[in-house]
Amino acid sequence: MGLTGIQIFKLLPKTNCKECGVPTCLAFAMNLAAGKAELSACPYVSDEAKAMLSEASAPPIRPVAIGAGKDAFKTGGELVMFRHEKTFFNPTGLALKISDSDSAEEVDRKLKCFVDHQYERVGLLLKGDLFALKAESGNADTYAALVKKVRGATDAGLILWSDNPDMIKAGLAERDDSKVLIYGVTKDNLDAMGGLAKEHGASLGVIGNGLDEIKELSEAAEKAGIKDVVFDSGARTAGDQLRDQTAIRRLALTAKDRTFGFPTIAPVCDMADTPMKEAVLAAAGIAKYAGIIILSDFQGQYLFPLLLERLNIYTDPQRPMKTDEGFYSMNDATADSPVVVTSNFSLTYFIVSGEIENSRIPCWLYVKDTDGLSVLTAWAAGKFVGDSIGESMKKQGCNDKIANKKIVIPGLAAIISGDLEEELGDEWEVMVGPREASFIPAYLKQHFA
Ligand code: SF4
Repeated sequence: MGLTGIQIFKLLPKTNCKECGVPTCLAFAMNLAAGKAELSACPYVSDEAKAMLSEASAPPIRPVAIGAGKDAFKTGGELVMFRHEKTFFNPTGLALKISDSDSAEEVDRKLKCFVDHQYERVGLLLKGDLFALKAESGNADTYAALVKKVRGATDAGLILWSDNPDMIKAGLAERDDSKVLIYGVTKDNLDAMGGLAKEHGASLGVIGNGLDEIKELSEAAEKAGIKDVVFDSGARTAGDQLRDQTAIRRLALTAKDRTFGFPTIAPVCDMADTPMKEAVLAAAGIAKYAGIIILSDFQGQYLFPLLLERLNIYTDPQRPMKTDEGFYSMNDATADSPVVVTSNFSLTYFIVSGEIENSRIPCWLYVKDTDGLSVLTAWAAGKFVGDSIGESMKKQGCNDKIANKKIVIPGLAAIISGDLEEELGDEWEVMVGPREASFIPAYLKQHFA
């Protein structure tokens, strides 16, 4: 269990200097206990107190990393039950299962599938995160060959999945230095698996038969000195999964029971007999607390909605999603193409860019940095006004880049046309576009086809 606010308060300097951003040390202590503040915010905590407070200030759900480098994946580290209370930090990892019983062609297909199903949105790359390599052949050499092949083909993190320590040992021999998750640890093989995890610096994915057994396994792993653990409660139906995921999160965050303070894993590939049911289970897992979800395949029609769901849930609700300011070429724009201008609120950007693409008319889309506000809100806040748009466009080299010198502004912001014309100069013609994005294709075809 973590320390209470009062216990933490006793270890603070009690000077109420306010440098941590709250009026008193007591308020800071309460925030720290609730996971709403970080110890580093107080510059005056003694080293001795720091050591004692480290447990209290650690995230109630331990972050666990898999992989290495730019493809390293992190799960856990969450502080709140509900996203609107603060934010969720580490998006649910989507793992693609490959079995050592799969044919060589199927393994190749899945490796290609992992790469092919990556999508760029809002300046982010939406993609799967991990491979879950399951030993089902019963042959250690076959399993080792699969691990070797996948390791050689991708930098993504690996989950080595078997309840047989011999298989895991064979797989570990073929991994590189990146951290793996050993998944399939039960009370029967904990000693052997724990030994392998310690020897290879791996994390442990324990499978229990209900939450009581999870607690026992967690305590046993801690006793064995294994810090990084991932839980599978053994739930294999949608209802049980939802119940257990929610209970584990509540025990960790609300009851502050450190034995449950670890991320979870849900093998939905073993819980459904159709891709659609699997996707539904995965969607529920993303919404309700799964740290990692293992899918049997990556099919675009199921994976893409899951990636979007994950993106929505794991964005910070207090920060608008933004697109970078600048000129974006649409439909192979050239110097003779017109400019369409909009704000950098991501949703606006996507709607407008989608409609321009639909028009098939080559255009430059100029995205003005409005701190993520939509056009009208940004205009009201003085961030989408003629002079600042013109000034930022000139800084981005609009006069050199664009010979066409025609710019289309949103119909709802027609009022900025005079200021924009003045800022850009006489050679530019400012045109007032439609009020609704859906009319953009017709407008562009009418004026620029
Ligand atoms: S910065 Fe430290 S000493 Fe100052 S009020 Fe905050 S907790 Fe107290």
